[in-house]
Formats: sequence, C-alpha cells, structure tokens
Amino acid sequence: MTVRSMPTVDGLRVWVLDFPTDVPEADGTATWTSTTMVLVRARSGASHGYGWTYGAAACAGVITDLLAEHAIGRSVFDVPAANEAMHRALRNAGRPGIGGYALSAVDIALWDLKSRLLGLPLADLLGRARDTVPVYGSGGFTTYTDQQAREQLRGWTEQQAIPRVKIKIGEEWGTREDRDLARVEQARAIIGPGVELYVDANGGYTAKQAIRLARRFEEYGVRWFEEPVSSDDLAGLARVRAATGIEVAAGEYGFTLPYFAAMAPSVDCLQADATRCGGITVWLRAAALAQAHGLELSGHCAPHVHAHAAAALPNLRHLEWFHDHIRIENLLFDGTLDPTGGALHPGRSDAPGMGLTPRPDVLERHTRTTATAPAASP
Ligand SMILES: [Mg+2]
Repeated sequence: MTVRSMPTVDGLRVWVLDFPTDVPEADGTATWTSTTMVLVRARSGASHGYGWTYGAAACAGVITDLLAEHAIGRSVFDVPAANEAMHRALRNAGRPGIGGYALSAVDIALWDLKSRLLGLPLADLLGRARDTVPVYGSGGFTTYTDQQAREQLRGWTEQQAIPRVKIKIGEEWGTREDRDLARVEQARAIIGPGVELYVDANGGYTAKQAIRLARRFEEYGVRWFEEPVSSDDLAGLARVRAATGIEVAAGEYGFTLPYFAAMAPSVDCLQADATRCGGITVWLRAAALAQAHGLELSGHCAPHVHAHAAAALPNLRHLEWFHDHIRIENLLFDGTLDPTGGALHPGRSDAPGMGLTPRPDVLERHTRTTATAPAASP
C-alpha cells in the first residue's frame, strides 16, 4: 500500500498595507482618505497563494496569534477543514467583525494556494456554472464634484461599456435629501436611459424616509436600493421592499450563515463579501443559502477576490467593480481582470489560482507592518 504524501501549509506571511484614496471619499454614513488592506501569503514548499481583506490592521495580529496555527501543518487540499478550525478558534475572541475579516483573508489565500499547486485557475478548480461574471461600476462618492462624478460614470459606461452603475446617497446620515435627489437626477442624465442605475444609502435613512425617497427614485428608473436603512433593521428593510418596485439589497456586513438566513426574507437580492463572511468557503455556502430562498447573490467589493468563485454560482447577480478597491488591486497586482463590456472572464489567461501576483515595489512602498507565522517562516 502506498501512502499519499499531501502538500501541507508551511507558513503564513501577513502585510498591513495603506493606500491613500485618490480624493477624499464618503458615503451616507462614513468618510475616509485611506484604505487598509491586510494581505496574506500562504506557503507550501516553494509555492505561494495570496488572499486579502480590506479591514483593520488588527486583523494581522488575529491571523498570526490566533489563526495561523490552525492552518499551518494541514493538507493544502483541505481548505474547509482549515476554515472550520479557524472558525472554532475564534469562539472567544469573536468570529464576527475583525475575526471574520482575518479568517476570510487566510481562507482566500488557501484557495489560491491549492489551485496554484494543482496548476488550475481557481474557477476551474471550483467548477464553472458560467463563463462570464457580470459587474457593475461602483463609486459615486458623495464627496465628488459634478465633474468628478461625470468623469467616473462616463468612464464606466462609455469607455468600458459597463451597463450598470451605482452611486452613494444618504449623504450625512440622510440629512441632504435634496442633494441626494439632484445627484440621482444628474447620474441618470449622464448615463442615459439604457444603463441600470443603482443607489446605496449605507443605512443612512429611516424606513419612512427611504420609502418616501424611493417613490422619487422610481421617477429616475433606479433599479437597486442598497441598505436603504441599517442592515440591522430587518423589519425596516422588509417595509421598504414592500413599498417600492425598486429591488432592495443588503448583506455586506454578514459574517455568518445564520445572519444571511435571517436577512434573506427581507431583501430582493442578497449581498455577501468573501473578505468578511469567511472567505470563499463560506461565500459559496451563502450563495447556496440565497438560492434556497429564491434569491441571487451579488458580491460586495474586492472584485478580484470574488471573480473566480462567482463563476461557480448558478444564481450570481453580479460583482461590485468598486472604484476604491479596483484602484488598489490594479496598482498592487499583475494579472488583474478587464471589465470592458460589463463582464469578467476569470481564468481566461490560464494563470493558476486567482492569477494575481503582487508587484514587489508596490508592496514595499505601501507596507505599514509585516509579520510571519511561524515566526521564522519566510
Ligand atoms: Mg454597500
């Protein structure tokens, strides 16, 4: 009898990277001038896989102190086992929040490592349900001037031929309704009648306010109303959903499957973010959960994390081609995807894994801290 020798996860390296925004950015309920990425490299022998999350720098300590020991030493092929062990290890520290971001980054790196070791694009390893992955242009920050908004919308719809766009509304916690309406009107005028227009209030409105505004948004053909109220207010989401023909979407703060199960009856499209909910392992399960509720799933932010996994979903709606993250991913990685025409073709290059390689000079320039586990691991 021969005993198969499985490649094992030998070590993790973690970087905290800071990327200043191109201009100050804000949505309905937050403002920022810099975005932090926590990048993980998982190693097996001489092979590496990469995963990341856009989360607090504290994720790095969670990875090296709490999670690494549950991934290292395992078979590279058994990503769900590592995911489950990390999930259990976070019981007392907290699986939602920073724990979820940290676990997700490691899980993504492990999927990338496994598919690289097998010499396959991740989409081929998971198995495709579709050849193309639709995207929508996302940005439209409340801080933009009219000119900046116009240039961004035209870049997506005219230069890249993306037929779906989203702008932020709910400015200053829903206190700038007139400006929200003016920006929706302006966006529709810029993109013309043939492009789907989405809005995202990031929970900035009350339910009654969102219902009243939705009637106005319908006049501009708005198709998608994301987080009209706080995503913790499931009854409010359901009330808005029942009062408008615009699709209500939420789910970007979901960390666990019970969260998505509770939310599903209150939305028209479920969103999930693989960099928060538990990596690609749990994101695929969230998609199955959505399907069981008759819903499609839309990937939130970090489009290059989701692209290959999205090809595996029969009930995919689309991915968010988010300006802030696209800028970072195009800067940091060789091998990024082209959204021209409104859809990605993950794996078309035949590059293994997610097909992305960090540029060493960019990595070095944006590194705040870096650490390894075990401590002596390269
Ligand atoms: Mg959102």
